[in-house]
Amino acid sequence: MPDWIDPDRLLVLASGNAGKLKELSSMLTPLGWTVRSQGEWKISEAVEDGLSFIENALIKARHAARCTGLQALADDSGLVVDALSGMPGIYSSRYAGPDADDKANNQKLLQALRGVAGPDRAAHFYCAMVFVRHAEDPAPLISTGKWPGRILEQPRGEGGFGYDPLFWVPGNQCSSAQLPPEVKNSLSHRRQALTALTGQMKDEFRN
Ligand code: IMP
Repeated sequence: MPDWIDPDRLLVLASGNAGKLKELSSMLTPLGWTVRSQGEWKISEAVEDGLSFIENALIKARHAARCTGLQALADDSGLVVDALSGMPGIYSSRYAGPDADDKANNQKLLQALRGVAGPDRAAHFYCAMVFVRHAEDPAPLISTGKWPGRILEQPRGEGGFGYDPLFWVPGNQCSSAQLPPEVKNSLSHRRQALTALTGQMKDEFRN
């Protein structure tokens, strides 16, 4: 952390996830930003009752801004499966129940797609990112990222997390759990949304 922090270039990340903090900081620090985790404030969880990734990212960003008094950045992501009308979507982390783990969620997904043939198993990972200048910001910066693929019939690979073992990446001919982390991070929905958002922030905060 630098000795002197420009208050106009300070933001709170509406997540306690250390991996997200690292990835975001690596892109925003060179642009002069200081990124702090909302974990430092021990604030309550936001109630994510939106119906879309963008709504939920906005709810989280506004909540973090309200609780800290700082500018805030939030993301929300998940898996969208065409044959399931977009499910598990915003319910990705709790698809198989409120306390479901990755294995249970993957099993439920395979079950839901039983009998659905290869070409009809199209899906994408989706990420929405939102930056608010303050809790009531009427004009947030919003970006999205979309990573297309297909749902496998059985898990492949040990890496990644969540639905990675079931997500076939056509361009790399492997599952996203089989990709080296740096390759996954360069292709992912999150990276696409982050690149787009940092582009908007560069334009917005040009000196
Ligand atoms: P979050 O919004 O980043 O916390 O993601 C919500 C849920 O979506 C995760 O718990 C995973 O189930 C799923 N998900 C999001 N991104 C990925 C990914 O890159 N790989 C696998 N699953 C993901």
